Amino acid sequence: MISRTMAEAQLPKRVDAAKLVDSNQQFSAQIDSQKLGRLLAAVERCEQPVDCHIEFFRDAENHRVLKGQCKTQVTMQCQRCLGSVSLEVESEFELGLVFDDERAKQLPRRLEPVIVDEDGYFDLWQVLEDEVLLSLPPFPLHPQDECQLKQPEPDTNAEPEVERENPFSVLAQLKKN
Ligand SMILES: [Zn+2]
Repeated sequence: MISRTMAEAQLPKRVDAAKLVDSNQQFSAQIDSQKLGRLLAAVERCEQPVDCHIEFFRDAENHRVLKGQCKTQVTMQCQRCLGSVSLEVESEFELGLVFDDERAKQLPRRLEPVIVDEDGYFDLWQVLEDEVLLSLPPFPLHPQDECQLKQPEPDTNAEPEVERENPFSVLAQLKKN
């Protein structure tokens, strides 16, 4: 459990990568999601803050690493009934902090590169917002029993009556030509 004061603390925004790595800094803090414009644009609503647990360290291969998790609650549009669906979004990540593209290419595959500016700083909020965006479901749906677009007769056992483009019909047409 994190303490109340820790949970209410805001994460710093522009941070010094080397300094945080060298001091093995850890944060359990929140970002006010109302300040994350790209996240707000991607969902219907995000009324919860983004909870972040992150740590900075040097790994065994001497890479500067930012590792952690972010979690929040968003409302998106169900792609089946077009109603609102509330979803928990959680992301886990391990990022390599580097100075340029060249060093980014040298990172092992398990580390996603984050390129810091010439002074060694980067925008921590922006990086964490990216991680939350990446973990949004591409096709949000209600659980079957909560969706408004239910089968009226559950025992028909038929495919859902959703109009769907059949990729094979397109192929069939192509073959005819
Ligand atoms: Zn639905």
